[in-house]
Amino acid sequence: MIAYQDTHCHLNLYQFDNDLEEVIHRAIQQGVDRILVPGIDLETSLRSVEICEKFEIVYAAVGVHPNNASSWDNTSIQRLRNLCTHPKVVAIGEIGLDYYRNYAEPEIQKKILVTQMELAMEFSKPVVIHNRNAFKDLMSILSNWVINLRLSGNPLSERPGVLHAFDGDLEIVNQAIELGFYLGVAGPVTFTNAEDRQNITKSIPLRAMIAETDAPYLAPHPFRGKRNEPAWVSLVVQKISMLKAQSLEEITTTLTHNGNHLFGWRSSD
Ligand SMILES: [Zn+2]
Repeated sequence: MIAYQDTHCHLNLYQFDNDLEEVIHRAIQQGVDRILVPGIDLETSLRSVEICEKFEIVYAAVGVHPNNASSWDNTSIQRLRNLCTHPKVVAIGEIGLDYYRNYAEPEIQKKILVTQMELAMEFSKPVVIHNRNAFKDLMSILSNWVINLRLSGNPLSERPGVLHAFDGDLEIVNQAIELGFYLGVAGPVTFTNAEDRQNITKSIPLRAMIAETDAPYLAPHPFRGKRNEPAWVSLVVQKISMLKAQSLEEITTTLTHNGNHLFGWRSSD
């Protein structure tokens, strides 16, 4: 059977309060056997951990999103550190820079990002990166961090993280791959007017790719505009299979291998 991983899915948000079990059940029916739920602040990070304790296929990432930078205070790092000791917390995220919404000053966003990347280093957990209109600053921060990982012999340098819902160009693809990062492909690649995105996705080597929904956001075609859910990662992966002109089985085998490597998951068979 074809198995999928949804490597970025916010089951911890209120949009899933009423039917979380059914949503996870539908994902399992579709062949999804791993779901990573990233936090966007302390409260949702805690909720990720709660959900992963209840459902075997769910794992958690913990972190503070740049749009929630104002929720950061001097207790945040210690509270994240406490969550990091949980065996199903496999990554730090989602963290990053957002100069589009710009809810916090760039300098503050950068400071919180770097602090959380130090936490990732401390616990040898990969980072799940959000970016909007900030690639220049972001890539220089990531690059410095990876250089540090390499110099200190941290095994994390082999699997530093993912640029989630990747929307950059080929130059950024190459920079990210050079640093060892994966690129997260999400629903927009399925949109009918997304030729540019599809061409870029075609050019991303499969060995550097993982798939995600970013649910409840970014629902793939033909559900664009609806609440997204993890079962629909299958639509993203089917699109990747079309673009790459490779069988669904070949594609899912490689994507699963990549997800297992990045998040330290054991193969589930
Ligand atoms: Zn997200």
